[in-house]
Amino acid sequence: MEVKILSAKFDIKDAHTLKVAKEHGAYSGLDTLFAVAPVVIIDLVKNSGLRGRGGAGFPAGLKWSFLPKGLDKPVYLAVNSDESEPATFKDRYILTRDPHMLIEGIIICCYAIGCHTAYIYIRGEYTTQVKVLQKAIDEAYAAGYLGEDVAGKGFQLDVTVHRGAGAYICGEETALLESIEGRKGQPRSKPPFPAVSGLYGCPTIINNVQTIASLPFILQNGADAYKAYGTEKSPGTHLFGISGHVAKPGLYELPLGLPLLEVIDRVAGGVWRGRQLKAVIPGGSSTPVLTPEEAKTATLDYESMAAHKTMFGSGGIVVLDETVDVVKLVENLIDFYHHESCGQCTPCREGLGWMLKIVKQLLRGEGRMADIELLRELCDNIEMKTVCVLSAACTMPVRSYLDKFRHEFVAYAIDRPQETGLNLG
Ligand code: SF4
Repeated sequence: MEVKILSAKFDIKDAHTLKVAKEHGAYSGLDTLFAVAPVVIIDLVKNSGLRGRGGAGFPAGLKWSFLPKGLDKPVYLAVNSDESEPATFKDRYILTRDPHMLIEGIIICCYAIGCHTAYIYIRGEYTTQVKVLQKAIDEAYAAGYLGEDVAGKGFQLDVTVHRGAGAYICGEETALLESIEGRKGQPRSKPPFPAVSGLYGCPTIINNVQTIASLPFILQNGADAYKAYGTEKSPGTHLFGISGHVAKPGLYELPLGLPLLEVIDRVAGGVWRGRQLKAVIPGGSSTPVLTPEEAKTATLDYESMAAHKTMFGSGGIVVLDETVDVVKLVENLIDFYHHESCGQCTPCREGLGWMLKIVKQLLRGEGRMADIELLRELCDNIEMKTVCVLSAACTMPVRSYLDKFRHEFVAYAIDRPQETGLNLG
């Protein structure tokens, strides 16, 4: 089931170095790139059907085409390497095992969109990744793949690594831009969207690491070769991080569209220790959970996940076995998003804190049945009433646990004296 496109060099010794990467084809597409007009590359990426791999799944080529034409301003590229969604660990592999694939992808993207300054915004905790990436960038400059005259083709491109300080919210594209500009990483209200007014008020494309790293394969092999993998609407491959209660957790490159349960069983070795499957988180902690019954019909693509009222997300699959206490899991989940709230919207800043208090109260055995309804009501009142979707990244999965595992919340609430009320103070 596994394929090797993005991960082709992951297991090759020293593939992070320019010498070894070049021996295995790195930068070999640049002659083709500079032989055609930028619009040809945009059309190629549109035809490939490549969708943003950061979570939203927006078509990459279409996003690029939103850049305004004829403006007397620079265009920027910001590569989102913040990768902070719990259960997501794919981009770090690209950064450490094949950073030249990312740099080549940046050159391709920048040529297509007319950008001469690119930033790689990298999660603060990724110290090893920063070192390996910076070394690769230095090598690329020394070899003439970056700088004044990229590959001798007269195209100028500078790439700067910008380290974050470790805030989940800086993975949100406008918070990321604020952070690069040297301010507190808080999301901006949209519109304007970054393609129109992004970094320093200039048109900016923000793409995830994996999205950009997919470009060398598409350039060298063509859109049809990429579309040969996956489904019609979700073409290509994805680096799926499978974790939790499976026999073989790890990172696997798979074509999109495979049956979820088959992947868990055949690729990740099935639920560990002979236990029963309780639930599956399909695409990172912010995606609504699937029951085993739902997982039976789900396939790993954007459309199937939407049909199952969840999201493909980052492709970070978490398998939960029968021993998981869903209420404790929800406590952990809310705790994370509450902690990561940037604090500028009251429903997010305060509401997530209230939700956490309610769940903690239930866990202490001091909750009541009405608290379960209150928790759901808070989800409804917080969601989509804030500047960014961090609050929804918490309320959407929480609502799914409340709906699908209500009996576990009830078990914590029953037999409590009804006068035991919630103290939000
Ligand atoms: Fe900040 Fe939360 Fe508002 Fe997003 S929803 S801008 S994280 S307070």
